[in-house]
Amino acid sequence: MCKSFKYVHEVTPIPHDVIKRQVHDGLSTKFWLDSWLDGETLATQFPRLLSLEVDQNCLVYDRIASVNRNWNWRRGIRSCREQEHLDLMLKFIGEFKLSTGNDVWSWNYRGGENFQVSNLRHALDTFLLPADNFSTPWNPWLPKKINIFTWRLFRDRLPSRINLALRRVPNISLTCPICFSDLDLIEHTFNTCRVASDWRTLLSRWLQLSIPDYNPIDIRNWMDSVHGSASYKQILLGIFSSWWWILWKNKNQAAFQLDYDTNNTLFLSTVTPFFLWLSSRCNKFLYRGLHGKLLLLC
Ligand SMILES: [Zn+2]
Repeated sequence: MCKSFKYVHEVTPIPHDVIKRQVHDGLSTKFWLDSWLDGETLATQFPRLLSLEVDQNCLVYDRIASVNRNWNWRRGIRSCREQEHLDLMLKFIGEFKLSTGNDVWSWNYRGGENFQVSNLRHALDTFLLPADNFSTPWNPWLPKKINIFTWRLFRDRLPSRINLALRRVPNISLTCPICFSDLDLIEHTFNTCRVASDWRTLLSRWLQLSIPDYNPIDIRNWMDSVHGSASYKQILLGIFSSWWWILWKNKNQAAFQLDYDTNNTLFLSTVTPFFLWLSSRCNKFLYRGLHGKLLLLC
């Protein structure tokens, strides 16, 4: 449990005293190593004294059950600095007294006193996930996997090589496995990589819409300026989501099978199933073949 809380403090700015031991009998709380007073552990605040301690795993009961405190130093306190630290620690402990009952964990995040998994989840989400006021709408005309993929894409939560390296996955090349000319970032895979750029030109032509050379998040924002009904925009976002999905699959194919698709004809034949999904699920969408006219009836 201590290890888990240590991790929480490592990855979030949650103060140490949010999660701490509430000491009663002091028989299950470590004097030096658990956080049971305000702030960090005594070991962190008074390392000089800790180095003098014989039993660094001692319990709160072992040290403060007696009014005179039961110190167990390797040698006597010698220097003024050591005495200063000890005085300071004694002030810090103050008049703390043991009581009856078992020690328990307390949690005071967001005003709550009892530990709740939902509170911890909220804290981790707040600090670990990128702040984004945009809620990714669920598109009923697309398969679940495409919706989930889009949600992860907008939050930069796809396992790109850079993201894997940031999570300390070893021995990973950081360059794009298709063009090897840039880092494997979301911006590159879905915008500046030559395959993305070439396919955007084809998609623009096919949709009869000038798609700007933006990354997916900027495309999402750009769509606010596109004229059309809400349904029209939902269909367009569905098409873009499908397009990004294809680019992602193509890049992974290059990475794992050393084979990828740059051929224009293959682009259309790959895209076709996704447009057929849409045409079969959405009655506002009419698809008239690769060389025909695309109609959005919204
Ligand atoms: Zn590339």
